[in-house]
Amino acid sequence: MDIALNIKRLRDEVPEHVKIVAISKTHPVSDIMIAYQAGHKIFGENRAQELLSKKDLLPQDIEWHFVGHLQTNKVKMVVPNVKLIHSVDSFKLLNAINKEAAKLNLSVECLLQFHIAREETKSGFTFEEALRMLNSQEIKEMNNVIIRGVMGMATFTDDMKVVRNEFRTLRKYFNILKDRYFIDNKYFTEISMGMSGDYRIAIEEGSTIIRVGTLIFGERNYFEND
Ligand SMILES: *Cc1c(COP(=O)(O)O)cnc(C)c1O
Repeated sequence: MDIALNIKRLRDEVPEHVKIVAISKTHPVSDIMIAYQAGHKIFGENRAQELLSKKDLLPQDIEWHFVGHLQTNKVKMVVPNVKLIHSVDSFKLLNAINKEAAKLNLSVECLLQFHIAREETKSGFTFEEALRMLNSQEIKEMNNVIIRGVMGMATFTDDMKVVRNEFRTLRKYFNILKDRYFIDNKYFTEISMGMSGDYRIAIEEGSTIIRVGTLIFGERNYFEND
């Protein structure tokens, strides 16, 4: 794996307005350093403990994103350490993030994760759940979270028609929410969709942030790392 070359190829290919989050979960800090030295500064992790231990060992100007399912008891660890939480998948979680951010006098940037895939294992709001939350009084009183947009993961399948349709659905959700709730809000701008296997389709369907692991760092070996 030539990590530096992989990053460079991807950056050259992807339109400039699309942010690349290098998903470094399970990979050692030495690999992250190679990407960093190749000029990449945005990395994503999906477990709180792994994020913190890596962050400690790496340059301070790295922008960290959290992309995994976040339990409320781990919110405290994540909030002061990340630029963007992609994976807000419940009202309860958003509430917990807001509370923790208020304690620290921070504003935390979040994306609402939607369930767009066929697999039940993937988490996220249904569109109705998100509407209920956005219509609530409580959300108007959350002053320490900034909702930056939406995130979703497509079904793991070779059928790219299915994947494209799911991305299209996420884009549609984004547009409806923008019109109904965020029309004059300059922060609600992001659609996080696309991974190693489907980022090209995601970009065609309007992605503004792709989350790429395997294509940069190679296959993950969960057995060795867990
Ligand atoms: C692991 C992960 C990715 C990266 O997946 P690859 O297929 O390795 O590019 C993207 N998003 C989330 C939420 C992930 O957990």
